[in-house]
Amino acid sequence: MHDFQSNINKNRLLSKRFQYAQGVSSPTRGIKFSALQEIARKGVEQKVIDDIYTFEENGCFCRHKEVMFIAARDRYNLYYPVVICKRCGLIRNDPRMTRSSYREFYDIEYRNLYGDGDLEIDVKWNIGVRKGEKIWQFVADSLPGFQGVVFDVGCYMGASLLAFSKRGFVVAGVDYGREHLEYGKKYSGVKNLYVGGIERLAELNKKADLIILSHVIEHLVDLESELKNIRNIMKPNAYIYIATPGLFWRTTKVHNRNFLALLNNAHTYYFSLDTLVYVMECLGFELVKGNNRIKALFKKKDSCRSKDNIPHGEYRRTKAFLKRTEAFYSLTCRVIRLLALFHVKGVVKWLLSKFVTMRRFYEKRYPIFQKGN
Ligand SMILES: [Zn+2]
Repeated sequence: MHDFQSNINKNRLLSKRFQYAQGVSSPTRGIKFSALQEIARKGVEQKVIDDIYTFEENGCFCRHKEVMFIAARDRYNLYYPVVICKRCGLIRNDPRMTRSSYREFYDIEYRNLYGDGDLEIDVKWNIGVRKGEKIWQFVADSLPGFQGVVFDVGCYMGASLLAFSKRGFVVAGVDYGREHLEYGKKYSGVKNLYVGGIERLAELNKKADLIILSHVIEHLVDLESELKNIRNIMKPNAYIYIATPGLFWRTTKVHNRNFLALLNNAHTYYFSLDTLVYVMECLGFELVKGNNRIKALFKKKDSCRSKDNIPHGEYRRTKAFLKRTEAFYSLTCRVIRLLALFHVKGVVKWLLSKFVTMRRFYEKRYPIFQKGN
């Protein structure tokens, strides 16, 4: 922990607020925090201090060693080293927690830390069902009449599979949370939901025409080997749907340019569409369609892109974006403090909310982030 902190002091890309300070419990601005979340946060922080949760090196996918240090903390002020590769521009958590530390973290603190424990189970179920409909729509738009076997890796309750099973697909899903899977089986009628990982799907006597990887790839401990294992349970020419928080889109559209709000200690990677396409092409997939948000569909193919064929200019583009958004964010914070001094914060907040509503209306009518880059 000490080494990373001193590195980030010497070679820091962004502002001081990205440094870790032990014992500070307040999350970054704009992030809601419940009592249940605070208990989970303290639990993780203490385990890191006591070396119960340990860290190990997580080298870049492109094998390059040189990095720029971005952060030593996440949005909840948990120790969380984040770097960007100076060659390919992929942002990663390095050093990251060991596999056994993650296993305990996902088992004990993860769901409560990210607000899941504050939601009713039927609310979560309905969110999953709606998400499944959107995934089906995204796939069906590109592949009309598509049918076959669908595996959902990290399926949670399996609710997203309902959209496929009711349309005649053969479905199966895996997740590590036993309790939620039991609930899912009861409500969806889908029997093939298993506790475990990709190995459980490999044991089935069939291969997939479509893999769903929704908000999973950013959690993978070993990107290369786990995606290779997923590739092995796919038929030739099969598809893989990937949803992950798009670095540029999410920082701008969801977190109002507050990049710290995007940082989440459960994430081992942050992708732009270009870095995701790079990783996937190197592992034998080609892009069918994708957007900056990131929702993307890839197809399994025989050839692989060379790891030396890095996404050109992505490091410079990402670095410039992070510096620009951080400058904008600190400026808005200063303006807000100034307005508070003159007691006009309420009026300006009201005007800003009107502006945001207007912007959302126009963006819905004239979408900017659709298909393509
Ligand atoms: Zn790299």
